[in-house]
Amino acid sequence: MGDRLKYQLEEKHIPKHWYNIQADLPVAAPPVLHPGTRQPVGPDDLAPLFPMALIMQEVSAEREIEIPDPVRNIYRMWRPTPLFRARALERALDTPAKIFYKYEGVSPAGSHKPNTAIPQAFYNKEAGVKRLSTETGAGQWGSSLAFAGSLFGLDVTVYQVRVSYDQKPYRRALMETYGAHCLPSPSNTTDYGRKVLGERPDHPGSLGIAISEAVEIAAKDPQTKYALGSVLNHVLLHQSVIGMEAMEQLMMADAWPDIVIGCAGGGSNFAGIAFPFIGEALRGKAKKPRIVAVEPAACPSLTRGKYAYDFGDTGHMTPLSKMHTLGSSFTPPGFHAGGLRYHGMAPLVSHLKELGELEAVAYGQRGCFDAAIKFARCEGIVPAPESTHAIKAAVEEALRCKRDGKQETILFNLSGHGHFDMGAYIDYFAGKIEDVAYDERELARAMADLPQVAAE
Ligand SMILES: *Cc1c(COP(=O)(O)O)cnc(C)c1O
Repeated sequence: MGDRLKYQLEEKHIPKHWYNIQADLPVAAPPVLHPGTRQPVGPDDLAPLFPMALIMQEVSAEREIEIPDPVRNIYRMWRPTPLFRARALERALDTPAKIFYKYEGVSPAGSHKPNTAIPQAFYNKEAGVKRLSTETGAGQWGSSLAFAGSLFGLDVTVYQVRVSYDQKPYRRALMETYGAHCLPSPSNTTDYGRKVLGERPDHPGSLGIAISEAVEIAAKDPQTKYALGSVLNHVLLHQSVIGMEAMEQLMMADAWPDIVIGCAGGGSNFAGIAFPFIGEALRGKAKKPRIVAVEPAACPSLTRGKYAYDFGDTGHMTPLSKMHTLGSSFTPPGFHAGGLRYHGMAPLVSHLKELGELEAVAYGQRGCFDAAIKFARCEGIVPAPESTHAIKAAVEEALRCKRDGKQETILFNLSGHGHFDMGAYIDYFAGKIEDVAYDERELARAMADLPQVAAE
């Protein structure tokens, strides 16, 4: 009991650069296309939405990109994050496997998302931007960007999916505590929001609609830029600090993973832990672990979606990216891991899946919560509903090791804590957590709506 092992680095070990996997890809990822011309986008096409420094990171093929000192200084508030060996969980499962986890819940917002919110706010401030617009579901990304905006003196406007805005007031209160302005989406502050409300005044909203609203106000106001919390290359880049630190910490433990696991919504925390390990293997420096992305069975873009060009939003204002998608108009059923309810997957994660560099599994939420509760009782940490998916996969691998008598080393990313999600745990103990299935007809309809792109 209580003998969880902790591998803690000093502040001077916070990485000095981010790792860009685009430098090591055996085949470059397909280009991003302009929504109108369907030709590859250039930096100027993206300039209304993002500062040039982030656009250049988006397309960079440089392996190491320096982390600016002001960003590294703020990272010191919570980085390096701890790596733990879950010995109590290993014993509870009676497995010969070693289970390590990297814990990103120690950040001020309680997840990995500030790893990118801080540099995004920094580069926007440097470019003279006054206001950032964004979307949020349950509120984890909105509260992370609100936190970053407060440190850099930027106004932050967050479009929060209406159902979450109404049902989950605590994350909204956190955003407001950090000084952000939070609006329910669809709203009457944008053309697109008014169009949606005109068709259905009680629309519950979706991430895809909220993205359209946030993009619209950024496109129309030269002082405002847009920020996205996942999916894009520069976001995955910023999250690479997770895996780079974990690698050093595992060396302290004299270990190297056989399996690396992360939950995947848009793919950023998964990429954060996994890409540095994939990179080492691609460069022939280390043995390639199995790399496993875990998604919810109710929104399974990697395991069930099509690898195709699609829009990032419902209003079709964003560029087209080639990715695993369920269709930009797909509405997943309601379930507790709001951060995993996105129709698409990061283009870089999708590309690596096509190249055979990673595998994907999908689990229903009940089994994930069962695993999370076992985990909490051994390790003391109450995980975010999203993170429970990574725990479930780690537990399954550890049980396989037990059956096969294998002493493998498992590493997973614990992307955040669940202190704002106790409603989900209340439902669990009331026996109200059910495995919800997506509607096959809804999926078929959304897939039939995929845009036609000539060069595929
Ligand atoms: C947002 C979120 C996720 C999902 O987003 P990714 O970009 O796939 O990482 C996972 N875990 C937590 C705690 C989150 O807040």
